[in-house]
Amino acid sequence: MIKLENISKRFDDNPVLKGIDMRVNKSEVVVIMGPSGSGKSTLLRCITFLEEPNAGVVSLGGNKVEASHEKRKTDIRLLRQNTGFVFQQFNLFPHKTALENVMEGPIVIKKMDRHKAKELAVSLLDKVGLANRMDHYPAQLSGGQQQRVAITRALSMEPKVMLYDEPTSALDPELVREVLQVMKDLAKEGMTMVVVTHEVAFARDVADRVIFMDDGVIVEEGSPQEIFFNPKEERTKHFLQDVS
Ligand code: ADP
Ligand code: MG
Repeated sequence: MIKLENISKRFDDNPVLKGIDMRVNKSEVVVIMGPSGSGKSTLLRCITFLEEPNAGVVSLGGNKVEASHEKRKTDIRLLRQNTGFVFQQFNLFPHKTALENVMEGPIVIKKMDRHKAKELAVSLLDKVGLANRMDHYPAQLSGGQQQRVAITRALSMEPKVMLYDEPTSALDPELVREVLQVMKDLAKEGMTMVVVTHEVAFARDVADRVIFMDDGVIVEEGSPQEIFFNPKEERTKHFLQDVS
């Protein structure tokens, strides 16, 4: 579903991604871990060209985009249409209700008629346990509820893959679980997901594969079992001592 070939990115003369190769199969859940500054966010952003890689090729659901290729604009649009992105900060529209936040994408981008968009939004919000919060504004919702709205908003575009960048890092500890549960349910339904997170328990329970990144490279990858109980690389061992 996703194939990254030799993705490189530098900011000025600071190399942040040093030739990343990565594949994600359909319905696979891949968790990316690594120290702060190792390039995790930049990697996720490069998948949808929110950051333009300096070199490399991104293929996503049959759509292929090459860095700096002159004809890439249309392909980038397709790439983004197929991808749901959830950030640490929920980025909801503050003057729209939960329901309106979720309806916005389908109406504006997919040109879905209002009635259909509402039906879709209602059923998705119901699914993430927000049936009784649809008419609330973001400021009237807890962080966990806002993040669930943000996930729902991404889902409303019917993406082929979901990318999460530390989706629970801004939440109070007691709100983390409800968000992880929604992600877990989605994984069970077969959604393809790439998740940057420090939540080891989530990675252990939900990930098919864990990637450990440091300093712009993939240091080690494997099943949760391999990475958490039998890491091979010193850098991985060190990092795990700090998070668990
Ligand atoms: P992580 O998500 O693993 O913490 P990031 O991908 O955010 O790491 O950052 C990797 C490196 O790239 C850091 O050194 C960071 O300072 C740098 N960086 C990220 N975004 C930018 C940017 N827009 N401009 C300059 N440097 C950046
Ligand atoms: Mg980051």
